[in-house]
Amino acid sequence: MQVKLNDLSRSSEELTAKIQAAVIGVVDSGWYVHGHQHERFEHEFARWCGLEHAIGVASGTDAIELALRALGCGPGDRVATVANAGGYATLAALAVGCFPVFVDIDQRLNMCPDDLARVLRSCPEIKVVVVTHLYGQLAQIDAIQNVVRTAGIKLVEDCAQAHGASLNGRLAGSFSDAGCFSFYPTKNLGGMGDGGAVVTADVGVADRLRRLRQYGWGRRYHVELSGGRNSRLDEIQAAILRIKLPHVHRWNTERRRIAERYHEAASGTNLLFPSRGGAEDYVAHLCVARHPDRDTFRDRLLQRGIATDIHFPILDVQHASLNLQQRSLPMAEQACREIVTLPCFPGMQPDEVDYVCEAIRECGV
Ligand SMILES: *Cc1c(COP(=O)(O)O)cnc(C)c1O
Repeated sequence: MQVKLNDLSRSSEELTAKIQAAVIGVVDSGWYVHGHQHERFEHEFARWCGLEHAIGVASGTDAIELALRALGCGPGDRVATVANAGGYATLAALAVGCFPVFVDIDQRLNMCPDDLARVLRSCPEIKVVVVTHLYGQLAQIDAIQNVVRTAGIKLVEDCAQAHGASLNGRLAGSFSDAGCFSFYPTKNLGGMGDGGAVVTADVGVADRLRRLRQYGWGRRYHVELSGGRNSRLDEIQAAILRIKLPHVHRWNTERRRIAERYHEAASGTNLLFPSRGGAEDYVAHLCVARHPDRDTFRDRLLQRGIATDIHFPILDVQHASLNLQQRSLPMAEQACREIVTLPCFPGMQPDEVDYVCEAIRECGV
């Protein structure tokens, strides 16, 4: 048997007819950017997140960059984030001209609140913290909110891997000044191209974001805010996302069940899963475990036809091209050597899941 890491056609299949009709509807409408579909999607996505405002943008990285600008960041400011989350927040901060300052991670593989407190004490110039809910697992958001509030600075959530993850009924994106989402095709809510959004309860932030995403215009052709550029979510993507949105919680449940099966199969082996919080604070965007001899484990799965990957193989601080000077991050460095991503996606068949479980039991030792 061959098991792929992901197969997007499995979850799209059930919606193909609806998506085709919606795309044709946009084609026939003669209106392709910032029209009815986009307006409806912004409204529906904001409500889904339990918030007042959603601002569509062109990608998840743009969402973070524009959120930083909307919160007042500019050249020379410092932004705290983690180094193990794929580099997106770091690149967004650099695009604004900010210096990233890295915080080590906890047992969830997310930002460690205690280390954040230490970093904020030693670097009082930090203006914004970007916390990533990595792999679909909410960070220890209560503790991080407390640390950020005490410091009197702003908090941004990177929710690009955490659509629908919740704690006490509150969804990812609603714990901060600005929640940033990507709708890249592989995400828990994904379009058929690029897309992103920022959600917020703050009308001032929402207003600045609406201008920043379109050249800084207030009135058409009048640049009323500096730092703006072109970052729009198009009508076709918005129409597709509207069709998929009502299915995200069900798909998340499917993902979570697969991850739970792997977790059970790993008991008594050397494959360890990151710690979790509540029942629904994990949406299994990626099913990531740790193994002390990760490369051998991956080879053995590959021999059985099971694809795996590493998210992510390099810490932000290790990109020579970015020339970032940093403190050491022992927890992130160790995790980077041990992490492995297992196949986990909506529409994965029971026999495929069984096959991976068997491989975990036999190769995880
Ligand atoms: C995918 C991703 C992004 C970036 O989204 P794009 O739409 O590809 O720009 C940002 N942060 C995280 C954690 C991601 O996984």
